[in-house]
Amino acid sequence: MKVTGAAGAAAALTGVAACSTDSSSKPTTSGTASPGAKSPPANLTGRIVRPSDADYTTASTGWDELFTHYPLVIVFAQETQDVVNALTWARQNDVALRVRSGRHCLEGWSNVDNGIVIDVSELKSAKIDASSSTATVGAGVNQMEAVTALGAQGLAAPTGTEGTVGLAGATLGGGFGLLTRSLGMASDNLMAAEVVVTSGADGARAINVDATHNSDLLWALRGAGNGNFGIVTSLTYKVHPLPQVTYVTATWQGLNDLQGVFDAWQRSAPSTDNRLTSQLEIHPEAILLFGVLSSGSEAEAKQLLAPILSVGKPDVSTKNAKWADTYAGFQIPTKDEPANWKFFSQFITDPFPSEAINLIGSFMTRAPSPDSNYFTNAFGGAVKGSEPPGGSAFAHRGALFYAEPGTGWGTRGGAPAQSDPTTAKAQAWIAEFSQALRPHVSGAYVNVPNVGMADWETAYWGSNVERLRTIKTKYDPGNVFHYEQSIPPASK
Ligand SMILES: Cc1cc2nc3c(=O)[nH]c(=O)nc-3n(C[C@H](O)[C@H](O)[C@H](O)COP(=O)(O)OP(=O)(O)OC[C@H]3O[C@@H](n4cnc5c(N)ncnc54)[C@H](O)[C@@H]3O)c2cc1C
Repeated sequence: MKVTGAAGAAAALTGVAACSTDSSSKPTTSGTASPGAKSPPANLTGRIVRPSDADYTTASTGWDELFTHYPLVIVFAQETQDVVNALTWARQNDVALRVRSGRHCLEGWSNVDNGIVIDVSELKSAKIDASSSTATVGAGVNQMEAVTALGAQGLAAPTGTEGTVGLAGATLGGGFGLLTRSLGMASDNLMAAEVVVTSGADGARAINVDATHNSDLLWALRGAGNGNFGIVTSLTYKVHPLPQVTYVTATWQGLNDLQGVFDAWQRSAPSTDNRLTSQLEIHPEAILLFGVLSSGSEAEAKQLLAPILSVGKPDVSTKNAKWADTYAGFQIPTKDEPANWKFFSQFITDPFPSEAINLIGSFMTRAPSPDSNYFTNAFGGAVKGSEPPGGSAFAHRGALFYAEPGTGWGTRGGAPAQSDPTTAKAQAWIAEFSQALRPHVSGAYVNVPNVGMADWETAYWGSNVERLRTIKTKYDPGNVFHYEQSIPPASK
C-alpha cells in the first residue's frame, strides 16, 4: 500500500516492554466447557471508555475516517483476562462485538454501533528469543514497534509497509510488504498464538495455538483470522537475521513512460532474485518505484532493477542502511495523511496486456484527488516457494503481484466525509476503475476488503473456504464473531 512520503516517523519503542504477555488467564491447549455450561456473571475489566467519557471520540475514531461508529463501550484490555471478561460479558448481555488492534480496517469493521469494541492495542509486550529465532509479541504491537524491537537485535520479520498498522490485523489477513519475496508473508512466519475463544453457553477462555495444539486454528489464523474465530492476544513469529538492506527509489515524472515501466516491472519484479521485493505506484503526475534488496549492495540492487531503470530517465536514489532505519524513513505521520480512503484489492496472475496498462493511465488522468494511485507489490520468491509447515489459509501464492486502485481525500479533523463533495466523486471513480480492470485480475485480499463483491469468500480464500467454515464451526459454533464479511459456520 502507498508508501510515498518524506523521511519521517521516529522509531517508536515507547510502551513496548520486554516482558511476556499476561499469564493470569492460564491459557489451555485442550479441553472445553460442555456446550450448555453457563459461566458466572462477568464484569468488564481493563480501561473502559463509554460515550459519556471525554476521550470517547478519540477512543472510537479509526484511521479511515470514511467510517464512523458509536459503540456502547470500548474495552482497552490490559491483560488476557480482560479479554476473557469482555467476551463473556458480551455473550451474557447479548451485545454485538468487534475486535480491534491497530484501527486500520479499511471498511470500519473493527468498530460497531451500540456494541462492544474489544481493543487489544494496549497489550504491548515483546519477548525476543534469539537462540530459538522467535519473538512473542502482545497483540497491541504495531508494525513500526515490531520492526524497531527486532531491528535492535539485528533481526526482522516481514510486515506491511505502514508502521501504524496493527501487526495482529496485518498478519491475520496475510501481511505483505518490502520483505515479502525474501521472507514470505507475515502470516507465513506466525508460529503460535494465544487466542480467546468462546466457551460453553455464554463464556470465554484463552487457548494456546501452535503446530501441535489447535493446529487447525493456526492454519486458519495464517490469512483468515481477522475477527473470525476469536481474539488473538499474543503472536509468536519466526524471526530472521537481517543486518542491512539496500533501499532504492526511482521517479519518472509524468505518465509518458507508463507502458514501458509497467511492462518491464511486471515481467521482472516477480521473478528476480528472491532478496529483492519492489512496488510500483502510478500517481496522476508521476510513476514511483520502491525496492528493498535484503543483504545486498547498492550496485547489485541497481543491476537487478536494470530492466526497469533503463526505461526513460528516472531519478534514482539508493541507500544502504539497517532495515529498521529504512522502514522508519519511509513512514508518513498519520496527521499528514488524508482523512478518508477507499481501495479495491486484486491479484494478477498473467501480465497485464497494454490495454490494461492504458486503463491505469487513463483513470489517473481523471483522478478525484492528488492522493490517488494504482499500487502494486511484487509476489513470487518466498511467497510462491513454499507454505510454512502446517500450511496456511492464504490463497494467492501463485500471483505475479498484488495491486489496488486507491484514493484518499479530505483533511483529518475537517469536514466529515458525508459533507465532502469529493466523497461521491472518489467512490464512483474507484468503483469504475476497479470494474474496468476486472477482466485482467482475479481474487481479492481480505485485508483490503472489497465490499459488495459477489462471492467474496472464494475471492479471498479460494478452495480453502470449506475448511475455514469447518474450523469456524469448531471454535465459534454460535457465530459470536460475525460482521459483514465474516466466515459463517459450516451449517449456516
Ligand atoms: C495505510 C494502510 C497501509 C496498509 N499497508 C498494507 C501493506 O503494506 N501490506 C498489507 O498486507 N496490508 C496493508 N494494509 C492492510 C492492513 O493489513 C489491514 O488494514 C489490517 O487488517 C489492519 O490491521 P489493524 O490491526 O491496524 O486494524 P483493525 O481495524 O484493528 O483490525 C482489522 C481487522 O482485524 C481484526 N482484528 C484486529 N485485531 C485482532 C485480534 N487481535 N484478533 C482477531 N482479530 C483482530 C479486526 O476485527 C478487523 O476485522 C494497509 C492498510 C492501511 C490502512
